[in-house]
Amino acid sequence: MKSLSTLIVGAGYAGSVVARELADAGQRVLVIDRRAHIAGNAYDEYDEHGVLVHRYGPHIFHTNGERIFEYLSRFTEWRAYEHRVRGVVDGVGYPFPINRDTLNRLYGLELDEQGAAAFFERVREPREPVRSSEDVVLNSVGRDLYEKFFLNYTRKQWGLEPSQLKAGVAARIPVRTNTDDRYFTDTFQAMPKHGYTKMFEAILDHPNITVELGVDFSALRDRIKARHIVYTGPIDAYFDYRYGRLPYRSLRFEHEHLPDVAQFQETGTVNYPNEHDYTRITEFKHLTGQHHSGTSIVREYPQAEGDPYYPVPRAENEALFKRYQALAEQESEVTFVGRLAQYRYYNMDQVVGAALASAKRLLG
Ligand code: FAD
Ligand code: UDP
Repeated sequence: MKSLSTLIVGAGYAGSVVARELADAGQRVLVIDRRAHIAGNAYDEYDEHGVLVHRYGPHIFHTNGERIFEYLSRFTEWRAYEHRVRGVVDGVGYPFPINRDTLNRLYGLELDEQGAAAFFERVREPREPVRSSEDVVLNSVGRDLYEKFFLNYTRKQWGLEPSQLKAGVAARIPVRTNTDDRYFTDTFQAMPKHGYTKMFEAILDHPNITVELGVDFSALRDRIKARHIVYTGPIDAYFDYRYGRLPYRSLRFEHEHLPDVAQFQETGTVNYPNEHDYTRITEFKHLTGQHHSGTSIVREYPQAEGDPYYPVPRAENEALFKRYQALAEQESEVTFVGRLAQYRYYNMDQVVGAALASAKRLLG
């Protein structure tokens, strides 16, 4: 039986950041991942045509947390990048999130900022309290925009009605009376200059860190004696689904290379709320700034089965998660951190923040 100070399950943001913090503090850590690569869902790689793509869908880094941006800046240089998205309605791509230009183009209007505010005020369906994602959207933009941009996209993405999802899901998307067409307005928006995987290689490059890939925790669980375990996989799996399965939404990614197409679409991502079985198409060259005679794109097809990607924010799932969390609290020698282990719809920067906080607690 092997003995080490800390075993870390998962080489994504949660596992890698905790590993680095403990290693910097002098602890020897072993990081395992069941996949054949590091970086978790942020993993990127050159496809067979030499285009840098994100295997698990588009990842755009954005944060208001200066401390988090500075932390990651120890491990990568950056390329400034502000993501833009179009939402296709009746075959036409409109700025999304909805802004003044969206209204003017969609309805043939010439609203100024005040006019746009008055428009939303006129069409919105006030909801009190705002509980579900349906409430959020109807309360801010009313039924027509809800049906054009949100209803069917949400049905596709989650396999649920917006009324069944917590408010926080749709509240990720702002509504604007100005003409700002950026997807995010965070202070820091950038892509790792040489890609995410390179950044993770730098995070894990430490004499106190050993990484073993293609190793599942379940195969190792009874064979290894660690003083502490940091677990970043799905929390229900850790407890052998004792209370039943927590739903995690999955996706199928359809990658395609288009030779001799310099640019496939106008923006990094185009959303298809109403047509197709996929939700969106992302063209990676927009994100990475890479020059190449061809281009590579990915389509995302949501599905219930498959690798866990998204916790599904609804009251009944949170109640089930709370039961698992109570079990987790009794495991004093295990720390649960990350999007899957905490069952939270975390962005990358939030996982870094959660991992730094966990490491701080562990180091006392
Ligand atoms: P993960 O990256 O999932 O890492 C967990 C790791 O644990 C995995 O590598 C897994 O293989 C491993 N593991 C699990 N169980 C076991 C086991 N039993 N044994 C061994 N290993 C195990 N965030 C943003 O900020 N911006 C974006 O643009 C963005 N886009 C996204 C797009 C998509 C399609 C998805 C799915 C997510 C996106 N995110 C984005 C969110 C981002 O991916 C996550 O916040 C982040 O990667 C989560 O890191 P993590 O370490 O918690 O989990
Ligand atoms: N959404 C939508 N229409 C869109 C884009 C998003 O209805 O064109 C809703 C949908 O419910 C989605 C949520 O807003 O799940 C959050 O969107 P975001 O782009 O943040 O999702 P992610 O990038 O995390 O998949």
